Amino acid sequence: MRLFDTHAHINDGRFENDRAEMLQLCFDAGVEYIMCPAVDRETAESAIALAAQYEQVYAAVGVHPHESKDVTPEDYDYFKTQALTNPKVKAIGEIGLDYYYDFSDKPTQMREFIYQLELAREVNLPIIIHDRDAHGDILATLKEHGKGNYGIFHCYSGSWEMAKECIKLGYYISFAGPVVFPKSTKLKEVAKEVPLDRLLIETDSPYLTPPPFRGRRNDPSKTQFVAEEIAKLKGMDVDELAAIALENGKRVFNIT
Ligand SMILES: [Zn+2]
Repeated sequence: MRLFDTHAHINDGRFENDRAEMLQLCFDAGVEYIMCPAVDRETAESAIALAAQYEQVYAAVGVHPHESKDVTPEDYDYFKTQALTNPKVKAIGEIGLDYYYDFSDKPTQMREFIYQLELAREVNLPIIIHDRDAHGDILATLKEHGKGNYGIFHCYSGSWEMAKECIKLGYYISFAGPVVFPKSTKLKEVAKEVPLDRLLIETDSPYLTPPPFRGRRNDPSKTQFVAEEIAKLKGMDVDELAAIALENGKRVFNIT
């Protein structure tokens, strides 16, 4: 199976002791591409370092809503320079709104989200959206401030109604481990409906480990379980589904 994990924090500290071995196992299992997102300056730097080290790894730069209260103008200068000059930097992300935790207050999250929408347009890169319990505000903000933006709803958690709107606005819908959880009946319905040309798969490693590995550290090789679940829902061959999702990932991130 050929796999593109479109969202994996392989720069996370939990991979500190065995990152090289873990990645080799992923490559051996068919993972051909990994997008490593940033959540702040430090993780942008480590994502970029891994992208330089591994041909299969690509990086995104940006600030997560949790970290948005700490971002500096110098951080944005760094993101912009990297976006414009580093060929392995393929997206601005992850950016968005998180109303589940309040690590940064809502106005701050919103301000930095809007700023990064503009940054993405300036450097002509897709955005990777983090949307937790903020569906309404994310869509409203994209409509008001995101004309010309495009990209990915990472770890999609909304309804099919919302997905249709996202797709119309130019976004891809990316599914992670939760689509495999037996209780995710609504999400399974969404995955079944999403058109094949807008579908992506991811792990959000080291988080959101799908069954049968729940409770353990997630890694990009587990993308195959997301592919298997969605292939089953759509009644299609898993290799074919994984290959389509891989090509979609290459298209949205402009990987040639
Ligand atoms: Zn993430």
